[in-house]
Amino acid sequence: MLVERFNRQDIRKDMSNTSPSEISSVCATTNTCANCGKEGSDVTNTCNKCKMVMYCNAACKKRHRHKHKKECERRVTELHDEKIFKQPPTLEDCPICMIRLPTLATGRTYMACCGKLICCGCIRAFQSRAVKAGRIKEDDICPFCRTPPPKSDEAMIKRYKKRMELNDPIGIRNLAGMYVRGLYGLPQNITKALELWHRGAELGSADAYYAIGIAYNQGRGVRRNEKEAMQYWELAAMSGSSIARHNLGCFEEQSSNYDRALRHWMIAATDGDLDSLKKVKSIYMDGHATKDDYAKALRSYQSYLHDIKSDQRDQAAAYDARNKYYESAV
Ligand SMILES: [Zn+2]
Ligand SMILES: [Zn+2]
Ligand SMILES: [Zn+2]
Ligand SMILES: [Zn+2]
Repeated sequence: MLVERFNRQDIRKDMSNTSPSEISSVCATTNTCANCGKEGSDVTNTCNKCKMVMYCNAACKKRHRHKHKKECERRVTELHDEKIFKQPPTLEDCPICMIRLPTLATGRTYMACCGKLICCGCIRAFQSRAVKAGRIKEDDICPFCRTPPPKSDEAMIKRYKKRMELNDPIGIRNLAGMYVRGLYGLPQNITKALELWHRGAELGSADAYYAIGIAYNQGRGVRRNEKEAMQYWELAAMSGSSIARHNLGCFEEQSSNYDRALRHWMIAATDGDLDSLKKVKSIYMDGHATKDDYAKALRSYQSYLHDIKSDQRDQAAAYDARNKYYESAV
């Protein structure tokens, strides 16, 4: 036991950012077999689950298994939680006004011409300037790269395929959505959509991970598998999908894991997910969270609103409800 503890303390510091090969190299410096206590540079057989203990050979690893199992599982869960409960990266700023993009999808538009996400405020401001100047024909060109909209379905699909060649995760994920519904002259093809979602997800699209989770949850194009769905939603949440994060919180709530539910909803509320803030409020009312928890979630949500609000965006939302870019707090 002592040997194990020694190893663990040594390498624990930056575990979340440490690659398995780095871990092995750190372990290798301690050179102690967790089973027989043998020391030396040839003690290199790592527990491939927790990566926390070393053995001199496979036989020692096997013999130690029953002693190590519990500790190993505990550490694997701990490592998983460290990853899953980390605040994910936020969306980039709008490339025109340089203000943080809203999480609410109606507050931004993807431009397949240049692959930029532009906020509703900048699009609306550009359009109204064009109209005022009498350049009516220009009111729907891209405010970022000045490309006119595609003239046909074929032209639109061609643009998306170009984005795909450029490995643009959002473009790829949107193209997948078109295959799901058979839009713009594309045949309806869920297999193709899944293939694209996987590619978009690997390139960093949280929404693509989320969509794969839905496919597994509903058995669309794949065999229905809730466990698999959950794993994809976890990946989605870690890549920044607040809807996936919200759902994970709801699953934890169903199992009465209120602490874990709260942690998920707190992260999602910080990313502007109003439903998660409402959930924190509801478990606070039911006595499963403290007043401080709720106050903290509310402050985080308000700080998000502070980051994304702008006069231009307010004007866009007032002009057309389809430009709504946030929901007022509860
Ligand atoms: Zn040994
Ligand atoms: Zn282990
Ligand atoms: Zn903008
Ligand atoms: Zn553009």
